[in-house]
Amino acid sequence: MTPTPRLRRFLFSLFALSLLAGPASGYRFFGGTIDDSLAPVSENAAPWSPSVWGPSQTLSWVLSEAPEWTDSFEWRGETYESPFESASDVLPHVRAALEAWSDVPTADIRWRVSGMRVNLPRARDHINAIRPHVLDVPASYAAVYIEGGEILECDISFSPGHFIFFGRQRQSALVHELGHCLGLAHSAMFPTWDSALFPPEAGAVWPQDPKMAYGHDHDPRLTHDDIIGGSLLRPARGFRHGGIEGEVTFGGTAARFVRLVAARIGEDGRLGDSVSVFTDEQGRYRFEGLAPGDYLLAAGPMMETSAHGSLLDAGAVLHGAEDRYLLAPLSVSLGASTRAPPIALREGRGSAVRLPEEPG
Ligand SMILES: [Zn+2]
Repeated sequence: MTPTPRLRRFLFSLFALSLLAGPASGYRFFGGTIDDSLAPVSENAAPWSPSVWGPSQTLSWVLSEAPEWTDSFEWRGETYESPFESASDVLPHVRAALEAWSDVPTADIRWRVSGMRVNLPRARDHINAIRPHVLDVPASYAAVYIEGGEILECDISFSPGHFIFFGRQRQSALVHELGHCLGLAHSAMFPTWDSALFPPEAGAVWPQDPKMAYGHDHDPRLTHDDIIGGSLLRPARGFRHGGIEGEVTFGGTAARFVRLVAARIGEDGRLGDSVSVFTDEQGRYRFEGLAPGDYLLAAGPMMETSAHGSLLDAGAVLHGAEDRYLLAPLSVSLGASTRAPPIALREGRGSAVRLPEEPG
């Protein structure tokens, strides 16, 4: 059975179960405390405790050998065989997902699977574990343990259903959950038409949404947005960058948690290397991690809301605001944050999409 686009969206929406500990928060970070902004800049993001995962150190993961990896999977009246014959069959996928992050040259992300164990308690136990999610729901989640403003541990519960339903991009869910374990919250979808229905054309400005968004993706590779987010949390030595900052208003007041996209103008004049951020509670935003160059900005309400319940609860601007594009390029240089002109969203058609609630 091939999932319909609607079902696939639902499967992604189940990543919403991702936050069991710590504040729910283009790249977006977890704040260290409940008093932090829901869209903090990198200096206020929760880092890994240096006593657990310091610079240049390697973080170890343990893969569960629990028998549930090989159980058949019941979903909406259908029975699906597990894609795994043993826990060892999961190992190459875990390694590939870890490598998606550790291959980022601008980030200091060293992690590996150190072994497999039959019994792994479901608790904070100083072991970063990857277990099968034993419920018959195609949902995976990451439990990020944050204490004293620092990440101490992360456990992933991974559904074999993700491998059954996600076909060619099936490592994406693991890559997504590992991104949470790095300290990345959900990022924004790019302002694109539904790329699940219309596969991206070569040279598209936004060929796929960030791995950390509830968007659509076509392969397990990280997007530029994910790469910059991970690099800001764990910068490799010599990672130098610039930024853009400014404010957005709507109806004369701060536009909370609207999405901005900065797209770099390439040598050939085409747009690419896009990153997204949200405004904070005061309508302010700051892009970080940008390579030098000229950028165009787009601002508007988030496209897809199911990944961002905490932002909705905190008053995110949605319906009624119209997208705005700043068509005068902004120049970014290393070590500086370029001030953008104020952006006032106008009343208009709006673009936010609210998906119907699904049972379960
Ligand atoms: Zn998630």
